[in-house]
Amino acid sequence: MTLTATRRAQALERLENLGLDGLLITASENRRYLSGFTGSSGWLFLSRDRVALVTDGRYWAQAESQCPDVELVHFRSNEDLRLSRRLAAWLAEKGWSGTLGFEGEDLTVAAFRQAQEDLQEAQGPVKAMEPVSGLVELIRQIKSPDEIEAVRRAAWVADEAWKAALPTFQEGVTEADFCAELEYRLARCGARKPSFDTIVASGPNGAYPHAGVTDRPIQPGELVTVDFGALVDGYCSDITRTIWLGHLDERSLEILEVVRRAHRAGMETIRPGLRGCEVDQVAREVIVRAGFGPAFSHSLGHGVGLAVHEGPGLRPESKTLLEAGMTVTVEPGIYVPGVGGCRVEDLVVLTETGAESLSRSPYQEPGQVHPLEAWT
Ligand code: ZN
Ligand code: ZN
Repeated sequence: MTLTATRRAQALERLENLGLDGLLITASENRRYLSGFTGSSGWLFLSRDRVALVTDGRYWAQAESQCPDVELVHFRSNEDLRLSRRLAAWLAEKGWSGTLGFEGEDLTVAAFRQAQEDLQEAQGPVKAMEPVSGLVELIRQIKSPDEIEAVRRAAWVADEAWKAALPTFQEGVTEADFCAELEYRLARCGARKPSFDTIVASGPNGAYPHAGVTDRPIQPGELVTVDFGALVDGYCSDITRTIWLGHLDERSLEILEVVRRAHRAGMETIRPGLRGCEVDQVAREVIVRAGFGPAFSHSLGHGVGLAVHEGPGLRPESKTLLEAGMTVTVEPGIYVPGVGGCRVEDLVVLTETGAESLSRSPYQEPGQVHPLEAWT
């Protein structure tokens, strides 16, 4: 059995437990995970006795080579008009009929209504369409050894790019310029593209956890939060370092020290057998006790894989039991409006006995006047 066939068998088992006969996969990461097809358009249909990819002429040759064990349904936009019409015709041709699950978090309301019209109404092959949530995502949480290696490569590329970009981190460089340099280095080091929009948040902009970049020139003495990642072989990495030039004032040093302590607590705690909420709590407590509780306004971490944000979540309400093979971030932060912010994020893989950090870039320490000093 191929790797993708094994995954499809797992998905089918979950599908049948829900009392559904077929599953329509529209989310690109799930389509890739279950079929191996990396193209950007197409619907995957899955049932006990059939698996088919409906896609257009741009991808036929690619689909044939990437997923030889998946039936290819040729969609011609000039004749078929919509994927759902082509799928309906194919299902009718094959005599398939049943209840179809679809990815409620991915299919737009407009596409769902059209699919319903094509597949269900006027004696269509589908009896009913039911939204499912997280069916494939739950399987994706635990990575195979090959997937862990891919995430490890993506983390390595981010570390290399970071080191290569740091010499340009100098007084007066704008957030946008430093971002451009970092993204260029990511590409040169082997990333297909950044795994998400890079964040470079300097001084007061650091108070916004997901700030983006501006044309603000970076000044000595202010905290600069840089959150970035690489996409390599379809897999993501995600890392944050908070850096500065020169010397920090007492307030910034305090924020930095508390975040670093919370991060250490999270990294030392995380292991299989704990629940997501338990790891979040250990790190969060450090920040709460230091009096910054309300300033840590997000969860401690998230899974990383084909998507940069996936399960499991490390957050106060997460009951998910952590298991070996999961790849997750640990990323506490403090954000003070008008002052600035700080976040430290590493990506770890859970092993049988604990966790291994895949992020290797060192942290700038108090007293160091440039982040490159941390490397020596
Ligand atoms: Zn991040
Ligand atoms: Zn993250």
